[in-house]
Amino acid sequence: MAKLSWHEILDLVQDLRKRGFEVVGPSSEGGVVKLVPLEDATKLEINYVRTLNSPKDFLLPNKERLFRYKSTATITSYGLKIRFPTVEGPCPITIVPEYSPPRGRLAFFGIHPCMVNSIRYLDKVMLSDPVDPYYRARREGLFIAVLECEEGDEYCFCKSVDGDKVPKGYADLSIRKDGDSFIVSARSPIGGNLLTEEGVEEIEEFSPKMKEEYILDTANEKSIESKDPADLLESCTLCSSCTVVCPTCYCSDIQDRFSLMDPGNVERVRIRMSCQRRGYSSIAGGVTFLKTKNERFKWRMKHKFPFSEKMYNMLGCVGCGNCIAFCPSRIDFRGFVGRRVA
Ligand code: SF4
Ligand code: SF4
Repeated sequence: MAKLSWHEILDLVQDLRKRGFEVVGPSSEGGVVKLVPLEDATKLEINYVRTLNSPKDFLLPNKERLFRYKSTATITSYGLKIRFPTVEGPCPITIVPEYSPPRGRLAFFGIHPCMVNSIRYLDKVMLSDPVDPYYRARREGLFIAVLECEEGDEYCFCKSVDGDKVPKGYADLSIRKDGDSFIVSARSPIGGNLLTEEGVEEIEEFSPKMKEEYILDTANEKSIESKDPADLLESCTLCSSCTVVCPTCYCSDIQDRFSLMDPGNVERVRIRMSCQRRGYSSIAGGVTFLKTKNERFKWRMKHKFPFSEKMYNMLGCVGCGNCIAFCPSRIDFRGFVGRRVA
C-alpha cells in the first residue's frame, strides 16, 4: 500500500504507457466526463460520478469488421446478380477473419467499481461457450485500476445490485481518495510491480454513500410481465440512449456490406443494436416479436434481471444509473422492478 500525491498518480499512468499499455481513463471535456485514451496523463479526471461511455466501447466497439470475403456478385445489364453459397457443392467464398485488438494492451485507469463489474458481466457473456474471439483479443492482458466512489448521485444504486464491490481477480490496483492524497493498493502481481511492492494486498471493503436506496425484485420474471409500464414510458421517445450508455448492453446486428462499384468484395460487420428499436426483433417475412415500446421495455428489464441471473448467475445491471441520467425524459425503471427504501 502506498500513499501517493496527484503527481505520483499521473506518473502511474505514464508508467503504464511506457510499458506498452493503451491507457483509457475518465477525462472531462465540455462539461461531460468520458472514458478516452489518455495520451496526456494530465487529462485524467478523478472527481467525477459517471462517464457518458463505458469500458464496453473499447472492448466491444460500436461497429467492427469481423471479416471480408469475396462473393460471386457481379453487376449485369439487368442489375446486381449474387450467387449465394449453397449447401451442395464447394463454398464459393473465402473467409479471412480479422481481429483488431487495440494498439497495445488495454488498461482502464480510474474507473469505478460498477464499471469493473460491467466488465465482469461482459466476460460472462462473451467468454462463455462459444467464446467471442474478437472480444477475447481485446480483453486479454487487460489492466484495471479501480477508483473507489465516495458518494453516488441520485441515479446511482450499485449497492442494490451488488455492483459496488470488486471481486478478486478483477482489479490490479485500488485507488482510494484520502484528502489531497490517494491510498493505492496492489491487487495483482502486475499492480504490485507498478507500485514497486511485493505481494498482493487484502484491502478493507469500502462502500459508497447512496443518495437513494432501493430494494429490487430482480428474480421475478412473472412480476415484470404482469405490470403495465405505459405511464412510466409515456414520455419515452424510443431514442435508445438507455441502451447505448448502458455498460452491459451488448446486443448487435450483423450486416454484409459492399459497394455497387465493387460488389465482389464484401465486409461482414457487427454493429451495436438496441432492443428498444422495433427492428431489433423483426425477422424475415415481416414478423416483429416486440411490437410496442411497453413490450420492448419489459424485455429489457427481463434480460437485465431474471434472464441474466438465470444464465450467468449475475445480474445484467450494475446500478450505474447511466440509463436514467442520460435518458432525455429521465425515465427511471427502479420503481418498476422494486421500491425505494431510503
Ligand atoms: S433513453 Fe429514455 S427516452 Fe430514450 S429509449 Fe430509453 S427510456 Fe426511452
Ligand atoms: S440498466 Fe441502467 S443502471 Fe443498469 S447497468 Fe445498464 S445503464 Fe447502468
